[in-house]
Amino acid sequence: MKILVINAGSSSLKFQLIDMENESVIAKGLVERIGTVDPTTDLTYEWEGQKIKQKQLKKCDTHAKAMEIVLDVLVGKDRTDAEYDANDGKAHLTGTGVIGDLKEIGAVGHRVLHGGEKFTASCLIDDACIAAIEENIPLGPLHNPANLMGIRACQEVLPDVPQVAVFDTAFHQTMPPKAFRYAIPNEYYTDLHIRKYGFHGTSHRYIAARTQELLNLPKGNKVIICHLGNGSSLSACIDGKCVDTSMGITPLDGLVMGTRCGTLDPAVVEFICNRKNMTPTEVLNMMNKKSGLLGLAGDSDMRNVCARYDAGEPNAILAIEMWGYVLRKYIGSFAAAMGGVDALIFTAGIGENDAAGRARAVEGLEFLGIKLDPEKNAAARGKETKISADDSRVQVWVIPTNEELAIARDTLELATK
Ligand code: ADP
Repeated sequence: MKILVINAGSSSLKFQLIDMENESVIAKGLVERIGTVDPTTDLTYEWEGQKIKQKQLKKCDTHAKAMEIVLDVLVGKDRTDAEYDANDGKAHLTGTGVIGDLKEIGAVGHRVLHGGEKFTASCLIDDACIAAIEENIPLGPLHNPANLMGIRACQEVLPDVPQVAVFDTAFHQTMPPKAFRYAIPNEYYTDLHIRKYGFHGTSHRYIAARTQELLNLPKGNKVIICHLGNGSSLSACIDGKCVDTSMGITPLDGLVMGTRCGTLDPAVVEFICNRKNMTPTEVLNMMNKKSGLLGLAGDSDMRNVCARYDAGEPNAILAIEMWGYVLRKYIGSFAAAMGGVDALIFTAGIGENDAAGRARAVEGLEFLGIKLDPEKNAAARGKETKISADDSRVQVWVIPTNEELAIARDTLELATK
């Protein structure tokens, strides 16, 4: 079966078409600037190693239109702007097609940010599921509405195809209350559902399962997963089940990230509001979008910050040192929370590619039994690789994540049940 995986953001729609016979990616792409004031919408599309970038003039003001564009390129059709205007469905064959007919798409899997406490696993999309995603909009005010737009767009253009929602929060629902509750009065939890939810769950779940397959760990094994990308989070897992994670009710908590500050004293918010005459929303916006590596070093991209660190720039040195320091503190605290650690896994853009970052993450952690093999670490990039020294008590691995494949696998399972 061929499965279309959709990750809809507020102004973008990422897609991958995966052949589940051999779990290979047939085509993938991204529609950007949907419904924005920009005069153009970008479509980037890759198939069998080929790539196109098209500009669609003013033609994409809704996610449903973006879905139409995606489906058109998948079947190898291209419409002119005039044809989109007339919506007459006329199309030219362009040779970009990877499927003969839309009927080949057996199911659609959607990445959904916030499942709240309702969803502990992925689910087939029906009215009740949509209502529950809507109910969780206060918890994911930017993402859930966009995810819903993606779902509705697919329902419109592929009405007979089963659709599945895969939640970023679901994997972390196994955390015990002592890990997920905040120590504020109970009514804030019972009335408002204020608690830690955790994110990147699809990635953490994929890595947790892959770790159990690859590492031959004993029963009761304790694993720390470091998902280090632009957004970053850690999870602590016992036997592949999450017992703690670094993100909170929103993805702002935890590590120093590309643009997010991570954990800080919440009193900072009121302090800045008073001193800078800002609203709490403005302060949170600053903490989400202008902080982290960007706030400290003026650049959110780890590669650029590393280059400036290497050139001896003081702001970059501080940013990189804080990034490593906070990460080490989390690794140590999760090891303490579980009473030990058997394996430490690095994944996502930084975790898979940045050997210096991985070395910094475990610097001084030999007392926990964590020891890298410097050569293996330096060589590991984007492939499943053991990077710990032979005499390291803790196995350390790089395992590339694959959220789209995890979504496609869930979708296949639920759609064919
Ligand atoms: P996203 O959260 O956007 O999915 P990714 O998982 O793609 O993020 O990770 C993006 C981050 O990975 C960026 O900060 C980027 O600089 C970093 N990165 C990618 N390759 C390297 C590398 N070779 N060295 C250091 N950082 C890298």
